[in-house]
Amino acid sequence: MYDPASRDANEFIDDAEIRESLEEGKKLAADRDALNTILEKARLCRGLTHREAAALLYAEDEDIRAGIHALARRIKEHIYGRRIVMFAPLYLSDYCVNNCRYCGFHASNKTARRRLSQEELREEVLALETLGHKRLLLEAGEDDRNCPIDYILECMRTIYGTKLRNGSIRRVNVDIAATTAENYRRLKEAGLGTYILFQETYHKPTYEFMHMGGPKANYEWHTEAMDRGMLEGGLDDVGIGALFGLYDWHYEVMGLLLHAEHLEAVAGVGPHTISFPRLLPAEGVDYSAYELVSDRDFKHLIAVTRLAVPYTGMILTTRESAEFRRELLDIGMSQMSAGSCVGVGGYAHPGCSRPGETPQFHLADERKPEDVLKGLVRDGYLPSFCTACYRAGRTGDRFMPLAKSGEISNCCQPNAMLTFEEYLLDYADDELKALGERMIAEELGRITSEKRRAQTAAYLERLKAGERDLRF
Ligand code: SAM
Ligand code: SF4
Repeated sequence: MYDPASRDANEFIDDAEIRESLEEGKKLAADRDALNTILEKARLCRGLTHREAAALLYAEDEDIRAGIHALARRIKEHIYGRRIVMFAPLYLSDYCVNNCRYCGFHASNKTARRRLSQEELREEVLALETLGHKRLLLEAGEDDRNCPIDYILECMRTIYGTKLRNGSIRRVNVDIAATTAENYRRLKEAGLGTYILFQETYHKPTYEFMHMGGPKANYEWHTEAMDRGMLEGGLDDVGIGALFGLYDWHYEVMGLLLHAEHLEAVAGVGPHTISFPRLLPAEGVDYSAYELVSDRDFKHLIAVTRLAVPYTGMILTTRESAEFRRELLDIGMSQMSAGSCVGVGGYAHPGCSRPGETPQFHLADERKPEDVLKGLVRDGYLPSFCTACYRAGRTGDRFMPLAKSGEISNCCQPNAMLTFEEYLLDYADDELKALGERMIAEELGRITSEKRRAQTAAYLERLKAGERDLRF
C-alpha cells in the first residue's frame, strides 16, 4: 500500500499509486478547467503534487503545452535568473560486476578495463583545472575488489589536494553504486558534495529485466539507498534521476516525484538535484529494444518537472546535442556538464578512451568547454562555477528554506558572477573575455540591493587584482 513515509521501496514507490495517478491524470488532461487550476497553483512557485503533475504530463494540445513551457521558463528565471552551474564528470574506473543491459560497462561486455592510478588521476585533475572546472562528478562502475570504497576516498583526497596555479577543485560530487550507511558516512567525512544515484527505472519489472546480475539487480537495495545515506549515513544532499528510455516516461516522472515526496517525508528535505539522462547508443547494447523518448516529449516532461519541484536543481548532461540543450536550459535546467569525457582517463589523453577500451556511451555534444561557454553567453546565460553553499554549510535542510524564500539568489547571482570572472581571468581567450565581461557588467546592474551590488563590484576588483575564491 502507498505510504510516502515508509522505509520500504515497494510502499513509497507504489505501482498502484502511480497507475492510479496516471489514469486520473489522463482524464484531467482532457478538462481545460482542471488544467488551468493546476497551472494557477504552479504559478505560485510552491510546486505540485505528483497527481497534479500527472495531468500536465498528458496534456497533448500544443497551446496547453506551450503555456506549460512558458510558465516553466518564468519559474526558472524567477528562481535561478540566467545562471547555469557548470560541472565535469570524471570517470575513475570502468570495472563493473553488474550487468545493466543499457550500459557499455556491463560485466559481460568483454573489453579492456582499468582504473586510474593516483598519478593518472592527478593528471586528469590538472587537465580539468586547466579547463577551469571547480566542480566534479566522480563516476565509477561497481566492483568491490577492483574499485573498493577506500579507493574512491583516496581519489577524493587526491582531487582536493591537487592544485595548479589558481586552479582547484572545490566540490566533489560522487555517482557510485548504492552502498552501505557506513560507506555513505565515510564519503561525507571525505568532503562529499552531493551523492548522486540514478534509479534508472522506477518500474520494478523493467528494473529487474534491465539488471541481469550483480548487487544492482536487487531493486530494494538500490531504491532505498538514499534512505540509508540520509537517515543513517548523515548525507545532506542527494541527487536522483531516471534513465529516460527504459520504460514509459510518464511512469518515470511519477517515480521521480514520489521519490522526492518520500525524501521530504522521511528526511525533511527533498533531493538537491534531479538528473535527466536520456539513453544513448552504447557498445554492445541493442538500442532498438528501448522506449526512446522523443525530443518533444522530453522537453515537455522537463517543463512539468520544473513546475512540480521549482527549487530542485535540474541537471542536463552532455548526452544531449548542443542545439537541443539550449531549449532545455530555457525551460528548467539549472546545471550542465561541458567538455565531458565518458571514458577512463580521457581528459589528460584526449580521444577519451585508450585503444580496446569502451566509453560508457557515445556523446552527442563534443564541443570544448570554452565553446560551450561562448554559446551560453551568446544565448544570454551566465555560466557559474560556484561551490559556495556547500562550503558555507548551506546544505540539506539549511539550504531549502533559503531557496524557498528567494534569499538564496542574493548569494547565487553574485557568486556566479565572481566565479565566472575568475574563469575569464584565468582561462578564457580574448573573444570569451570580451563576451563575458560585458555580461558581468550587465548582471551587476541587475543586483537590486545597493549594498550587495557595491560588495560584488569590490570583490570583482579584488579578483582582477589577483585574489581568488571570494564568495558570499
Ligand atoms: N555505476 C554506478 C551506477 O550505475 O549507479 C554509477 C555510475 S554510471 C557510470 C552513471 C549512469 O550512467 C548510470 O546510472 C546510467 O543511468 C547512465 N548510463 C548507463 N548507460 C547509459 C547509456 N547507454 N546512455 C545514457 N546513460 C547511460
Ligand atoms: Fe556498471 Fe553502472 Fe554501467 Fe550498471 S550503469 S553496468 S552499475 S557502470
